[in-house]
Amino acid sequence: MGQVEIDPAEITRVLQELVAIPSVNPAFEGGCGEAGVADYVKQYLAEHGIPYMEQLVEPGRSNIIGMLPGQHPGPALLLEAHMDTVQTTGMTIDPFAGTVTDGRLYGRGACDTKGSLAAMLVAVAALKRSGLPLPVGVHVAAVIDEEYRYTGVSRLAASISSGELSYCGAVVGEPTGLHRVIAHKGCVRFYIDVHGKPGHSSEPGKGVNAIEQMAEVIRYLKEEIAPLYALQEHPLVGAPTHCISEITGGAAPNTIPGSCRITIDRRTVPGEEPLEVWQGFKDRLQELKQNVPGLKLTVQEPFIIDYAMETSGSHPLVLQLASAVTGYAEGRHEHGAAYGTDASKLARVSVPSVVFGPGDIGQAHTDNEWVSVQEVVSAASALAELILHYRRDGM
Ligand SMILES: [Zn+2]
Repeated sequence: MGQVEIDPAEITRVLQELVAIPSVNPAFEGGCGEAGVADYVKQYLAEHGIPYMEQLVEPGRSNIIGMLPGQHPGPALLLEAHMDTVQTTGMTIDPFAGTVTDGRLYGRGACDTKGSLAAMLVAVAALKRSGLPLPVGVHVAAVIDEEYRYTGVSRLAASISSGELSYCGAVVGEPTGLHRVIAHKGCVRFYIDVHGKPGHSSEPGKGVNAIEQMAEVIRYLKEEIAPLYALQEHPLVGAPTHCISEITGGAAPNTIPGSCRITIDRRTVPGEEPLEVWQGFKDRLQELKQNVPGLKLTVQEPFIIDYAMETSGSHPLVLQLASAVTGYAEGRHEHGAAYGTDASKLARVSVPSVVFGPGDIGQAHTDNEWVSVQEVVSAASALAELILHYRRDGM
């Protein structure tokens, strides 16, 4: 075992207390925001004599950043986890009870991602208590709004670009089953509108049917665009994808539809720029227009953009995390993921990042969300180990 013991009882208590405080993202049903959890984090840090700063991001919604100094000046190591959760609607368990059964702690956020937050808080508290000298300063950032618009990590990233904060690497807490996710996809989401010509549906030939025109667009995306994705296969995250995730159109049962809209959710791989991908759709659909008589369409500006990310498997942070995890969790390795995380926003401002935490992504957002307490203990132990032996320039 390492020099810093992690107490399973403390992990359980902290995670139960975090789960008991609702922090549903305000964008979702019953959304109350993260203020309760932010207060808890402040209090926990203060109780352990760890100074913190507060970043007001939106009214009533702040990031809390605990700061444990190291022996040597220079950029700190960042541990980052989000405080918000998705809605509790439809859950089959008490979302806030934090009941432990057979080693599993149940509740909304237990897995995504209060388990990670608990591991980070308990790890830095244990390090502080130990009085051991730290080779690197450590910041624990508990941030808002990962589940919707990433405003919390974006605010943190702005402080990094301005030079107010400086990091040599980041561990972003998400349920990876203690594997190390070093690459993940990004996305660009936008609408495509087809404009028809409405009229009486008893004489379909006198109008232009926007739904039938959209069918041509959908066929084109499936037959001409999607097959090309295989050429862009990425070794860790796979090929790009698109999903037509919504469709609306028409006005009444007896009217030729004058409009039809689809939503495109295009997932990008490392190396792809979301705006270039979107421009690519625009260009290709211009070509289609020449082949479909009367087709009028607009590719709208993206309403969501997120970046893909990739950190080298031989980066010192990745290697040192790998050796820190060994001994607490066997058989874990480097992974890619199809989902997005806060890590891409940190990587974007040149902070090498790894996604790592207890729990299974398959348990996130479910109606009986849970996390293995033992995995949370292992995560905290590995993080303490990582910090205690960290070398900014490698092993
Ligand atoms: Zn999450």
